[in-house]
This record gives sequence, structure tokens and C-alpha cells, in this order.
Amino acid sequence: MDKNQQQLINQFPILKQKINKFPLVYLDNAATTQKPQVVIDALVDYYTNFNSNIHRGVHKLSQKATEAHEQARITVKDFIKASSSKEIVFTKGTTDSINLLAFSLGESMLKENDEIIVTELEHHSNIVPWQMLCERKNVKLKVIPVNDEGELLLDEYANLLNERTKIVAVGHVSNALGTINPIQEIIDLAHQYKALVLIDGAQAIAHIPVNVQELDCDFYAFSGHKMYAPMGIGVLYGKKHLLEQIQPYQGGGEMIESVTFEKTTYNELPFKFEAGTPNVEGVLGLEAAIHFLLKEDLNQLSKFESEVLNYATEQLNKISRVKIIGNAAKKASVLSFLIDGIHPYDAGTILDQLGIAVRTGNHCAEPIMNRLGIRGTIRASFAAYNTKEEVDRLVAAIHKTIDMFG
Ligand code: PMP
Repeated sequence: MDKNQQQLINQFPILKQKINKFPLVYLDNAATTQKPQVVIDALVDYYTNFNSNIHRGVHKLSQKATEAHEQARITVKDFIKASSSKEIVFTKGTTDSINLLAFSLGESMLKENDEIIVTELEHHSNIVPWQMLCERKNVKLKVIPVNDEGELLLDEYANLLNERTKIVAVGHVSNALGTINPIQEIIDLAHQYKALVLIDGAQAIAHIPVNVQELDCDFYAFSGHKMYAPMGIGVLYGKKHLLEQIQPYQGGGEMIESVTFEKTTYNELPFKFEAGTPNVEGVLGLEAAIHFLLKEDLNQLSKFESEVLNYATEQLNKISRVKIIGNAAKKASVLSFLIDGIHPYDAGTILDQLGIAVRTGNHCAEPIMNRLGIRGTIRASFAAYNTKEEVDRLVAAIHKTIDMFG
């Protein structure tokens, strides 16, 4: 193993433990990543030294917490190369970001017979909020299909677009199959029809450097907990002029400028979209995770991950009873597979007994499972701390599972 990678692994205290007497092999990173010590320390520091509600206090602690919270917004802005920190809205996570957007865009900009395009690969979080909007506003949902490898059919996409298309909502990386979607082409084509584009970046943000200005996407959503940060914090990036035009999602403290019983006026961006006491600890944890990603170099981390993904693909392809599901030419960090004659749940249970954490089921992506004619898969998903030695453990455990089930 690379010395740099060992140094990286050492920063994750949870990985040192044994599960069922075996050293833990954590391959459920698409569900959530583990947290490095610097992120854990950021939370402890906040609660030990300056816990306080923000934006409204004149006292020292509140000022310190407010400054740290707003500095973290600048860190996020720089990380995704947004043009202003007003474009960074803190949310609970990707699901919350997409619900916010679907509600606010729907109320402000959509009318009957407009159309929204999603893809067959989407996570439920990037389907259901749009479906709900379609029902509310009598808008039509259209779906970009995939080929058998799990790649979007761009010709079909071009045929779905027309002057009624108002929103295109696409995942950057599929959590079920690992496909990296050609989002640049998708964005550029949508813009020819003046449609707005949301990229669901939940599975990309920890693996692929993102530059929202270069992409020219209108909105980009992601979750902290899939990028080494805490749960309960996420981001909705939106172009400033668009966020200014859409109405808030929730009402309450912090999102107002003035309230009377006759009329309430809203706060400026991004506070207009942040009703209630924010998740200060989460924001600080997210900032610590970004510093961690920058220090370790995201490109270097992606390199570790693709080496492990390629090695795992090669090794699993050698097992005759294993079938890899999703063989897109461009993939990131997710390896979905089936073992002939063994239910994914049973395989997952045996792997757990051997200390290996994988996910089984439809991965909140039922439509792509239906398209491929399967109920679910076993999914190994990698982070930068996973190694080829861990893949060898997975391979040995799969052989053992096959032996046990005959
Ligand atoms: N989109 C994708 C592609 C995901 O993988 C996930 C999480 N599995 C989500 C959205 C939802 O993220 P969260 O649960 O953090 O809101």
C-alpha cells in the first residue's frame, strides 16, 4: 500500500476497529463516508469553546460562531468555484436541497403543461420532489433512458427537449451503478432550450473536482455526510439571479427582513432560504472536511479510488458466478454486482460476518433496477481510504459465500 494512503487511513479512527473479530472493511461509502479526526475535532471544538446561536447575538460567543459559520460558507463557495457566497444555501442534505428547489422553482416559475426531464438512473431524491411538483402544477415528467451498461442515451435526451422543458435534473454520478454522466453535454443542450439544470452531486462531490461556473449548471446539490463531513448538513448552490427570483421554501426566523401581520418581507440571499436555527456544528464540520479534501488533494484521492475500483472490477470479473451490474465506460467509486443463485441480502449478511460492510437492495433507485430487470444488487462503494488488500478480502469473502451456499 502507498505510504500516503496509509497516512490517510490513520486519520479515520473508526476504521481501526474489528467487526465480528475481523478488521473492518468499510465499503458502504456511497451511503455515507467515515469521518477523519479533523472533522470530529471541529465539532468538539465548537461545543467546547464557542457554541452559540448565530446572527442574532451581540455577545462574544455568538459573534464568534456567526463569523465561523459565514467563513465556512466562503470555504464552500471557493471549493465548488461559485462566484459569490450568496449562492451557497445550507440545507440538511441533497434531499433537502432538491425539495427546496422543486418547491421554490415550482411555485415561482412553472405553469401547467411545462415539462421536467430526469433520468432513469436517478436516486429517488431526484425523482420524487419533481413528481410532487408535477402533481401540484400539472407539469409533465419525462425520463432519459439508459443502455444496458447504464449509460444515458443522449440522442433520446435531445429528442425529449423542447420549448416546454423548464428543468433538467440529473445526477452527476449514479449511486446505484457508478456511471459518471456527461453533465457538460446535458447542461449545454438544456441551455439551448433555456431550460434550467440541477445537478445532483451527492455521489460526485467527494470524488470529482466540481467547478460550477465552468459547468454553467444553474443549481448543484450535495450532502456533507458523503464527503467526510457530518450528517444533517448539505448545500444547494444556485446562480444568484435565479435564487433571487424564486420564493422561499420555508418561513420562520432568519429568513425574514421584517414581519408584520399585514406583510412580511424576506431577507437577502442566502438567508432567505435558511429558516430557523442553522446546523452550525454541521457547517463547521463541512468546512473541516473541505480543508481535509484540499490538504489531501482531491485529485490524488480520486486516483486511489479509481485504482481500487479498476482492481475490484478486474477481480470480480474473474469470478464466474459474479455479474457486475453497470459497465459504463466512465465510472466512479461504485461497484454493483450479483452472485448467481444467491440473494443479495444473504450475501450481504455473510460479508458482514466476515467484517465487510456493503449495501444490498435497490439503493433508493428502483426505476433503474426495474429497467435492468432486477430487484437489487450488492454494492461495494469506495472512498479514498479503501485499498486493494481490502478488495482481496472482499473477493475471498465472495468465494466463501459461494462455497457456503453451494
Ligand atoms: N442523490 C444521490 C445520487 C444519492 O446517492 C443520495 C444518497 N444516497 C441522495 C441523492 C440523497 O442524499 P441525502 O440522503 O444525503 O439527502
